[in-house]
Amino acid sequence: MKTGAPHCPGDEDETFKDGITNGAHWYDVEGGMQDYNYVWASCFEITLELSCCKYPPASQLLQEWENNRESLITLIEKVHIGVAGFVKDSVTGSGLENATISVAGIDHNITTGRFGDFHRLLVPGTYNITAALIGYMPLTINNIIVKEGPATKVNFTLRSTAASATPDTTEVVATASTVALLNLSPGTQSSHQPIQPKDFRHHHFPDMEIFLRRFANEYPNITRLYSLGKSVESRELYVMEISDNPGVHEPGEPEFKYIGNMHGNEVVGRELLLNLIEYLCKNFGTDPEVTDLVRSTRIHLMPSMNPDGYEKAQEGDSISVIGRNNSNNFDLNRNFPDQFVQIADPTQPETIAVMSWMKAYPFVLSANLHGGSLVVNYPFDDDEQGIATYSKSPDDAVFQQIALSYSKENSQMFQGRPCKNIYPNEYFPHGITNGANWYNVPGGMQDWNYLQTNCLEVTIELGCVKYPFEKDLPKFWEQNRRSLIQFMKQVHQGVKGFVLDATDGRGIFNATISVAEINHPVTTYKTGDYWRLLVPGTYKITASAQGYNPLTKNVTVKSEGAVQVNFTLVRSSTNIESKKGKGASTNTDDSSDPTTKEFETLIKDLSAENGLEGLMLRSSSNLALYRYHSYKDLSEFLRGLVMNYPHITNLTNLGHSAEYRQIWSLEISNKPNVSEPEEPKIRFVAGIHGNAPVGTELLLALAEFLCLNYKRNPAVTQLVDRTRIVIVPSLNPDGRERAQEKDCTSKIGQANARDKDLDTDFTNNASQPETKAIIENLIQKQDFSLSVALDGGSVLVTYPYDKPVQTVENKETLKHLASLYANNHPSMHLGQPSCPNKSDENIPGGVMRGAEWHSHLGSMKDYSVTYGHCPEITVYTSCCYFPSATQLPSLWAENKKSLLSMLVEVHKGVHGFVKDKTGKPISNAVIVLNEGIKVHTKEGGHFHVLLAPGVHNINAIADGYQQQHSQVFVHHDAASSVVIVFDTDNQIFGLPRELVVTVSGATMSALVLTACIIWCICSIKSNRHKDGFHRLRQHHDEYEDEIRLMSTGSKKSLLSHEFQDETDTEEETLYSSKH
Ligand SMILES: [Zn+2]
Repeated sequence: MKTGAPHCPGDEDETFKDGITNGAHWYDVEGGMQDYNYVWASCFEITLELSCCKYPPASQLLQEWENNRESLITLIEKVHIGVAGFVKDSVTGSGLENATISVAGIDHNITTGRFGDFHRLLVPGTYNITAALIGYMPLTINNIIVKEGPATKVNFTLRSTAASATPDTTEVVATASTVALLNLSPGTQSSHQPIQPKDFRHHHFPDMEIFLRRFANEYPNITRLYSLGKSVESRELYVMEISDNPGVHEPGEPEFKYIGNMHGNEVVGRELLLNLIEYLCKNFGTDPEVTDLVRSTRIHLMPSMNPDGYEKAQEGDSISVIGRNNSNNFDLNRNFPDQFVQIADPTQPETIAVMSWMKAYPFVLSANLHGGSLVVNYPFDDDEQGIATYSKSPDDAVFQQIALSYSKENSQMFQGRPCKNIYPNEYFPHGITNGANWYNVPGGMQDWNYLQTNCLEVTIELGCVKYPFEKDLPKFWEQNRRSLIQFMKQVHQGVKGFVLDATDGRGIFNATISVAEINHPVTTYKTGDYWRLLVPGTYKITASAQGYNPLTKNVTVKSEGAVQVNFTLVRSSTNIESKKGKGASTNTDDSSDPTTKEFETLIKDLSAENGLEGLMLRSSSNLALYRYHSYKDLSEFLRGLVMNYPHITNLTNLGHSAEYRQIWSLEISNKPNVSEPEEPKIRFVAGIHGNAPVGTELLLALAEFLCLNYKRNPAVTQLVDRTRIVIVPSLNPDGRERAQEKDCTSKIGQANARDKDLDTDFTNNASQPETKAIIENLIQKQDFSLSVALDGGSVLVTYPYDKPVQTVENKETLKHLASLYANNHPSMHLGQPSCPNKSDENIPGGVMRGAEWHSHLGSMKDYSVTYGHCPEITVYTSCCYFPSATQLPSLWAENKKSLLSMLVEVHKGVHGFVKDKTGKPISNAVIVLNEGIKVHTKEGGHFHVLLAPGVHNINAIADGYQQQHSQVFVHHDAASSVVIVFDTDNQIFGLPRELVVTVSGATMSALVLTACIIWCICSIKSNRHKDGFHRLRQHHDEYEDEIRLMSTGSKKSLLSHEFQDETDTEEETLYSSKH
């Protein structure tokens, strides 16, 4: 190109000096793209003519790449030349969007981006550059020198023109979008007065709703109004978010919340939070303190947690309990799971909504606003004995500091003698108190916050009168406004930072930050960010994460502002990548193999709460699901996957449809062409009904997701390495070709080309080519551990059988698998598909036995269970058979976690290995589980079967050997391994010899022999817990509890629990009128 003599056929004599030319000089092009870029955007574009031949043969592509490689890279590098920087507001420091950047002598301006950023390409030289924006004084910087290489950095700080004329007005209403600012000089700053709220009245629910909507509407750039759900009487549980980026967690920025009106008749907090919303909105952009706070903190304000109770309460109420409880008459601040006491009351909708909110956001600090006294009360709120005594939390010092930050700004509270008329002897030094030291509150919200989340919460009593008269409201704002702001600022104390992966610098989710001598670790959020509130001092802080070497740092915390401390963690040496490739021998039986251990840990982690969310967040999933794939597109897509990921994919053809379309089967595995009988095999099948093609698209997305993240996301890599995944995306391609998009109810395309519904053809004399193809090539191989079929027409999961039967063998396991899918789906588990014509349908847990829903004979899943020895569930993804393609992204979002959960689940159950006394593996032995289900051992003596958590019986039968029997305990988050040894010489005692069972793997350290004992205790204990608390906890903890119970003497523990339960009720009745 640089010779400038292309010698293109037809224009042999054409030359361009240095291989470049002005476009119009060459020939005139109207409506070209490059000119549009230059004139209408801030972008410079050139047009490259790469070769004389427009569509050269493929053999030349490599040469073309060689010719252009350097040039393409160099052009990218050129984006860095010239001048770059920001245009900012002089008071707030915020970036100014759309400011004009002009260079003297060059008649071409560019504008700043969303953050005030600009980049002006210039050749080396000296320039005078001006930044200008309406409402601001323009600013010119002269003699800016531009050199070769990276851009010269230049920042412009513009002063507002809306300025000096009215420095003292408090009536300037600034909306966030205009950010019209007072131009304050340093000398006048102290005279600035923030705008005070004006709306002092009691807001009943509809009024409060309008107030909230109004502020959300007037200040859209800094607010987001959302709801946590509904109260018992269906009032929205509103939260107003105030942030400079509403709706977004900004990595590194802490989150704060205030909750008011938990007791419906304690109304001061409700009104103060509405005042606070008004105050923050009206002062953002003009008041430095508010602006700074909103920019650096994501603030969530919930004016009323108990809107139903509020409507029953009465103005002027000082000490009554009318309206205190929710509509079901439960005290919400006695309704949270407690560390010392079993809370027997059912967990209320308001409590559940708030608990899931607290789990969903990375809150750091919080306060719960009450009335009836005047004091800040901090954890713990109760103690083991149930008596009024100081109950210290590990963070007692921090709690005192944050409590004081509130009380010392409220002079009356600080004096510590709150309600002399009612409680003449009460005294709280400095207006703060430990909760339990005042009186015992079991089931309170603040302790739950501290024990179950990373958030520290206190309870603030705002005044002796619970429901004061309206005229007194301005006084409450005046007394508390400084406190409310100062308390929020406490979120910026202690230590904060990120925990990062040394290999790629990405944040590590769910890493642990622990402070030596404070027994209260916190965990990192999705982007690896963490916040640890601490009082000034020097601390030893350790960051640790699964699969990484922990790191400890000495950190000094000062009294002003949080110290930023980042931890960069190195992966621990048992890295799966480094182990691979060392020698080709595959000795997978060795369970002490560190990669096997690591994989067990991964399965455990992915089975834990939020485990799969973590996987999804750390994976690339920018899949463009914008259209459906017809048969031709589907085939192209699958070929494309195999072309791009040849090492982990294999595309085969199971057979042909009636109209000779291929039934594709895509295998995803680290060794796609090799048999790995010890690995569990899972099958996904979609499109049995051609008119319901959503499943097809979901499976294509799943396949691409797995390929895209292989060797990029460690969890996906390990799952692909350890699982044989088979995807049959379209079983009925003929029907699919007939179906029509957006046809929600039509049966056209449901059957195959011969008008047979394939889901009735799975019998011993299957007649259709599609059915035969999958039966012969997949199902009858009997080597799958799990099958998931995707269909449409409702939102639920069905499990076998579709035919009416008396009893369902292995029902617990089948139902468990179906529930797992439904529970990982955002709405399916709610059991309300709300499909047109069946709007009142109710499916408990979103799961039903096939025959109970739509009974029919000859179904694929019945055949799979009966003849394939493989459990199969059918997922119905949407009410509409063939929804519009615009719904595909949300359908993928809804089903992704569930589909991935199946890949995790297939690694559970029981992995077995059957051999004889000499160690020779026995293939084709029959394994009978719970006297029902049968599986055969594969080559190498392996078998694998999924079973619901609990105890199961195993019988093993093989020709020439005596039957063997044992029991195995199956965990919810790990596989159990069983080695069965057959003894040929078993007639000596005339009785079947007890099976020799050895159990391997760290997760099974509690041995099969103890399984029965454990199980017995489990069933005793599970009868004792009928409350919400127990349901929230994970089985794993339960299991550990049992172990602990067993080792410390269960009788004693059980007795002390019962004792507490009784004393607790007395405490509650004594003090129920207080906070
Ligand atoms: Zn209260």
